[in-house]
Amino acid sequence: MSSINPSFKKSGKSVSESPIDPVRIASQILKGDKASLSRAITFAESRKKEHQEIANKILEACVANRKPEKSHSLPSRRIGITGYPGAGKSTLLEALGLLLVHKGASVAVLTVDPTGLRTDGSILGDKTRMNELSKHPSAFIRPSPSSKSLGGVTTSTYTSIQLCEAAGYEWVFVETVGVGQSEAMVSLMSDIVCLLLIPGAGDDLQGMKRGLMDMVNVLVINKSDGPNIEQAKQTAQHYQQALGWEVLNKSSVTHPHSVIHRVSATSGEGLSDLLDWLSQWWESGLQSGAIHRKRDVTIDRLMTIEASLLLKQWMDSVIDVNSPDWKQAKRNLLEGNQVLPTALKPVVESLLSKSKNS
Ligand code: GDP
Repeated sequence: MSSINPSFKKSGKSVSESPIDPVRIASQILKGDKASLSRAITFAESRKKEHQEIANKILEACVANRKPEKSHSLPSRRIGITGYPGAGKSTLLEALGLLLVHKGASVAVLTVDPTGLRTDGSILGDKTRMNELSKHPSAFIRPSPSSKSLGGVTTSTYTSIQLCEAAGYEWVFVETVGVGQSEAMVSLMSDIVCLLLIPGAGDDLQGMKRGLMDMVNVLVINKSDGPNIEQAKQTAQHYQQALGWEVLNKSSVTHPHSVIHRVSATSGEGLSDLLDWLSQWWESGLQSGAIHRKRDVTIDRLMTIEASLLLKQWMDSVIDVNSPDWKQAKRNLLEGNQVLPTALKPVVESLLSKSKNS
């Protein structure tokens, strides 16, 4: 396979980077090298065509060279975690992740911020996130920078999930900030969506209700500890009445319905029940075909988003504001003779015919 050898400018001088060898990066990833996986994700996050090609070659090489026992294993569990900043998402992920790695599983956590609420990869830049988990050899944690383009975040995160799966991670958690837009985004990429809330938060239920019913599978009321316990119970009841969902208890762990669950990410209370529920829900979804059906539907949506992004990228590269068509359309608009879509019709037609000939 050919190597790609880009040059870049550093301190005003043009220097050559050592060649990027996607096959080598893939083999490092398959050996468990987290820095190589992180590097592959950086290529996936770039909208540059050459970087996307590198990400694709790395993915192909990972899949081609994966050990046979990994190729035949179950697809990885894709779990979405969303909620307002401060709800305890990273604390919960650290605790759930540690439970999983101590059971021998491998865990990847991708944190994305479509809302821009987070700065420099950590919540308000205040602390190192998932410190203990990130040091474990079976865990990989990757914060993604926020992006102005929601579609861009979504599709590059999907590639990151694919890379984590190719690297052999069995559980892939996708964490997003916020309530509303984030559920829709995380739902496109996950088999199961958990919405994390805190005791007492219920005022915005009406606005959230539709999104919740459609996209969220488990409402997790976190911080159910110390003086918050009573309020957490009331909050759970409040959502139970409003949504008609069951509150999770030991006997309902095996029920693949949407549930409400109280946990404390700091004390660990309720976490192993939550993990059992997630495992059971996922496995029964796999057997019934529900997981595959969901992935099948969401991939159409993701492909549509990516196709629009690629077409927009192409369009931006071919629009020529000095072309005669463009100038004529502009004159018609400035003189008030035509409405925008009509004025632009010849421009669009000429772009489309160019695309056929290219
Ligand atoms: P995120 O912004 O949703 O990722 O929230 P963090 O995980 O950063 O947690 C925000 C704050 O809530 C931190 O100070 C945590 O220590 C605290 N916290 C998280 N989970 C719990 C919990 O279960 N109980 C209590 N009492 N505090 C928690």
